[in-house]
Amino acid sequence: LFLTLEGGDGSGKSTQASLLEQWLVGRDRTVVRTREPGGTPVGVEIREIVLHHRGDIAPRAEALLYAADRAHHVASVVRPAIGRGEIVVQDRYLDSSVAYQGAGRVLDAGEVRSLSEWAAEGLMPDLTVLLDLPWEVARRRLDGARTRYDRLEAEAGEFHERVRDAYLALAEAEPERFVVVDATEPVDEIAARIRARVEPLL
Ligand code: C5P
Repeated sequence: LFLTLEGGDGSGKSTQASLLEQWLVGRDRTVVRTREPGGTPVGVEIREIVLHHRGDIAPRAEALLYAADRAHHVASVVRPAIGRGEIVVQDRYLDSSVAYQGAGRVLDAGEVRSLSEWAAEGLMPDLTVLLDLPWEVARRRLDGARTRYDRLEAEAGEFHERVRDAYLALAEAEPERFVVVDATEPVDEIAARIRARVEPLL
């Protein structure tokens, strides 16, 4: 089973991934909790470039770096885990690329999607949780939690609103794969909503 969490920076993906993992482990399932970018040693190096390189990275180069991270991660971590019958709980996947490199960086969303699918050899999540949050709320949360912003978090609010709209459009296009959750709700309520959608898949 392959479960992904998506949403803007500060939307609570890691908190929810962690709660979902605990719940699944409590039900005797083996969980591989991972993330993109940076779910492998190669990915950690790519993450450092895409998030902290000083200076610009051309949008297509950035898209290829995320795709390279994804290709290696899917091949070496995600597919083997699914093959062993484990549950993969993953923070960000190809919808992040469509939202950030597509809408955020204004590359063609269809091309970014094709690139991602090529990188992932067509592997799609069984369920994708979209934690939806207005950027002003996310920004306030991050201001309280961060000592330094990465390149993306430092982008203008308009960039993040484009990303949010792109995510919502993706969810609307594939309602069977997505569950959209209002990320302003209390943590426990969000976790309960997610569990309700995961349970029938177990
Ligand atoms: O959520 P996490 O902290 O791992 O994300 C790292 C950063 O990478 C975020 O600022 C996110 O906006 C960005 N990102 C991106 N494109 C992706 C994946 C992540 O711009 N495909």
